[in-house]
Amino acid sequence: METQGTLYIVATPIGNLEDISARAIAVLKQVDLIAAEDTRHSKRLLQHFAIATPLTSYHDFSSDSEVKKLLDELVIGRSLALISDAGTPLISDPGYRLVEMARSRGIAVIPVPGASAVIAALSVAGIPSDRFYFEGFLPAKSTQRCKRLAALAEETSTLVFYESPHRIIACLNDMAAVIAEPDKRKVFVARELTKKFESHFLGSVLEAASWIASDENNSRGEFVLVLEGRVAKLGSDIDELMRKAIDTAELLSAEVSMKRAVAVAARLVGVRKNALYAAMLEKEQ
Ligand code: SAM
Repeated sequence: METQGTLYIVATPIGNLEDISARAIAVLKQVDLIAAEDTRHSKRLLQHFAIATPLTSYHDFSSDSEVKKLLDELVIGRSLALISDAGTPLISDPGYRLVEMARSRGIAVIPVPGASAVIAALSVAGIPSDRFYFEGFLPAKSTQRCKRLAALAEETSTLVFYESPHRIIACLNDMAAVIAEPDKRKVFVARELTKKFESHFLGSVLEAASWIASDENNSRGEFVLVLEGRVAKLGSDIDELMRKAIDTAELLSAEVSMKRAVAVAARLVGVRKNALYAAMLEKEQ
């Protein structure tokens, strides 16, 4: 019986070409075929690293027979690498169908990790990164976008969005209109990460909306938005969520230390650990 080939999912840089990994270059050189979202775009990257492996196209609109052709290559023992235009394939990029079908045929699928804009932005945002929800692109139309933002408004994890230059102003304005306390809730705007005109802005959602609008250069390029999760309020109006967290922490404290009980309850219910500590102290007084 022939041995099946391996499908490698290879991350490429999101701007700065030096961010490619040594392993990514080695794998791209060694495989029999590279499937790319846009072959013309990827040809330039491959040329830069003197990678001469043949290229073929794979995108979300590839027909079933095109996907099957790639799977057939793998089945007869040829190895394949999937890349996207930038960053990690499948992260707001094509690849899911190919990976799912390869797995269902028992083909080995191996990641070659590297850059991804979501992780790069989170790593420098200065907004809690212990729990985050990746939304990717919001809907293009304002009504749909507001609906989606309203559905996410109560989320206590940090939220991460991808946005295009055409919609970044409208998106921040919608955010300011839909979420509670836009003058307090923090957002980090990561523009052109790893590129020549990289810039960062950290402030309230309202401030970010006016920063973007203040200079037309600010709305050029590629964007990641990292939005602080909803923070439960303290004081006289301790809300439902915090009440639940306090109850949970009190229950747990019969079994474990108060510190541990607070940490576990905060994680379970979805409130900030420090806020829960403060709320419990306030309640005790
Ligand atoms: N697969 C990619 C990844 O792993 O990040 C994402 C591809 S998605 C089609 C493209 C979006 O990612 C852009 O519209 C932007 O929101 C974000 N993005 C990609 N590169 C970026 C960069 N250098 N700086 C900021 N955002 C970037």
